[in-house]
Amino acid sequence: MTVPELKLSGASVLERAARGERLTHADVTALYDLPLPDVAAVAHELRTRRANPDVVTYLIDRNINYTNVCNVACNFCAFYRTKRQKDSYVLDYEQISAKIRELEAVGGTRILMQGGVNPDLPLDYYTGLLRHIKAHHPTIRIEAFSPEEVLFMERTFGLTLDALLDTLIEAGLDGLPGAGGEILEDEVRAKAAPARIRSEDWFRIIDAAQRKGLYTISTMVIGFGETYAQRAAHLLKIREQQDRGLGLYGNGFAGFAMWTLQTEHTRLHGKAPGASAYEYLQQLAIARIALDNVPNIQASWPAQGFKVAGAALYYGANDLGSTMLEENVVSAAGGHDRHRATERELIRIAHDAGFTPAQRNSFFQVIRYPDLMALGLVEAAVSAD
Ligand code: SF4
Repeated sequence: MTVPELKLSGASVLERAARGERLTHADVTALYDLPLPDVAAVAHELRTRRANPDVVTYLIDRNINYTNVCNVACNFCAFYRTKRQKDSYVLDYEQISAKIRELEAVGGTRILMQGGVNPDLPLDYYTGLLRHIKAHHPTIRIEAFSPEEVLFMERTFGLTLDALLDTLIEAGLDGLPGAGGEILEDEVRAKAAPARIRSEDWFRIIDAAQRKGLYTISTMVIGFGETYAQRAAHLLKIREQQDRGLGLYGNGFAGFAMWTLQTEHTRLHGKAPGASAYEYLQQLAIARIALDNVPNIQASWPAQGFKVAGAALYYGANDLGSTMLEENVVSAAGGHDRHRATERELIRIAHDAGFTPAQRNSFFQVIRYPDLMALGLVEAAVSAD
């Protein structure tokens, strides 16, 4: 494909990016000082080359938080409870099945199942839960247990990481959510959450998961007060792991999801700057440019709202994430006023932005083109007779 003429304000780093060259850490850091319209133009051009230029995808799924008891106590989290708090909970298998039945009723394909790190749950709870779901909901993919939870299981149940993952896979695990990525620079992590999984362990667990063929996704959260150099370092670590996963195992991250820190009701409220819609769009565009080996990049409507999510489709995103019949973690800390979306709402964002909406599976493969006429989003052609 030929590179279209982009009128860039003399920024050689953008010209090299537009030619498809791989950027260095200094290059990526420099992007933050360039005019956003120029950065966005290159990001959008790269998006059209790396993913279907006409289509914007979405997933129908549900987040399930099987427990809110957690002993990691991240400063940015308003979701977790100690086990003594009255509103702490652990869901039983039937409660989880009821949630999955609601997902099945609307054509959903996967659950994203995460908890707090609950020190009282035995390994049997996790393996029994996976077996229960596979037995009762065989068409639903289970992407569950973030690297933080896997690290807890590894330390608690006396299994090597390999043996633990084998046990979970045998019970029905299909993939790991990439949660806990935030900024994978330990200086940032230590301030935001002193007990949080460190970046080395996050990548060690993701690497083992990719080696075993599990689905994984990469993530980023901005707004902790991190520097541009730290954001750039985060992106290049993701890119390096993607090279490694694809090169060694033929299995890398399926995509990249990024959102902005929400601090309402958390100990970081008033202490961390968060990030504006402008910064969100800038970061998304820079991620698209830097992550030259990750074809699928999601827009985040739960943190930024539907309007910014629509704009994000011109800042490098080719996907609207998922409907999330239920979301408890970002919403507990504020976020936008919407924490679930109907399929029609996501279809409308893509359609209004000028793209063909398509339902996808976890691997960003299109599984259905919705009928826009039936949804009332396009009118039937009227005969001239
Ligand atoms: S973000 Fe996750 S690990 Fe941290 S306190 Fe909340 S539930 Fe626990």
